[in-house]
Amino acid sequence: MNTLTLAHYYTVPEVQQMADYVGDSLELALIAQREQAERIVFAGVKFMAETTKIINPDVEVILPDEEATCSLVTQTDITQLKRWREKYADYIHVSYINSSAEHKLLSDWIVTSRNVDDIISHLYEQGEKVIFSPDRNMGAYLNYQYGYQMPIWNAVCEVHDQFKEGEVMKLLSENKDAKLIAHPESPLPVLKRSDFIGSTKQMLEWVKKYRASPKSVIYVATEEGLLYNMKQLRHDLDIRQAPIYAGCQCNACPYMKRNTPALVKKAQQGIGFEIDYLDNDTMDRARVPIEKMLSFSKIKASQRVA
Ligand code: SF4
Repeated sequence: MNTLTLAHYYTVPEVQQMADYVGDSLELALIAQREQAERIVFAGVKFMAETTKIINPDVEVILPDEEATCSLVTQTDITQLKRWREKYADYIHVSYINSSAEHKLLSDWIVTSRNVDDIISHLYEQGEKVIFSPDRNMGAYLNYQYGYQMPIWNAVCEVHDQFKEGEVMKLLSENKDAKLIAHPESPLPVLKRSDFIGSTKQMLEWVKKYRASPKSVIYVATEEGLLYNMKQLRHDLDIRQAPIYAGCQCNACPYMKRNTPALVKKAQQGIGFEIDYLDNDTMDRARVPIEKMLSFSKIKASQRVA
């Protein structure tokens, strides 16, 4: 069987080495759509595998471990989300891709951390009012950065939410040359102190282009897996995980780490958690806001090339 293995940047290096492609949510969604695979092994978390199935309904999609979920999904009760959405009936509901299929079908647009700024700005330019879910930190950052007043759902990434302004500032004050780059799932006080804020892919691009003396330190506020990819790009830089408490540099996503090399190998043989539980109606409705995002991203990319 023609099997494609996709791995997110937050998986361990050994798993990334087993993959055909390594990337962020948007990149992997586009690859899944472009490649003609019969089976896709998604070394990531459940919402990513579900998204892949929704846009490739005829493909067998396997998640190596059923327990690989995400706190943004588990903290979101769908009945309460429905009520919240009804309260803002005349708003456009923009949802982060880190959401379940049931959440996506209650959304007008899906976004990733790479295209959220552009999509929400596009909606405001059209005169729309917007509500944002599920990531409270990302929504707070967007409201702060652009002066929006979006009502925001209250869930967090349990990994990024651990970064603390006090710990980070202590390190930065000890080393004036140090830089801090952060993922927008981090708390707003940390984001306000950051030299750069971006998706995993955008942080990798920033590191790749960074011009600095060999002694400068870059602290990174995101899941530890991405540091492997950063160090591969720039052996000359001192890249360190931003601390979460008492100087501890230990920020690993327990869900991403469930993708062990042994389980990924089994999944490549067709043994794992198959995403076969979504009915056609759920997939059809959840596909609409995802396709809007994918079309928007393709148009943006072609404009950049032109
Ligand atoms: S790092 Fe956070 S947002 Fe990403 S899968 Fe883990 S819990 Fe979810």
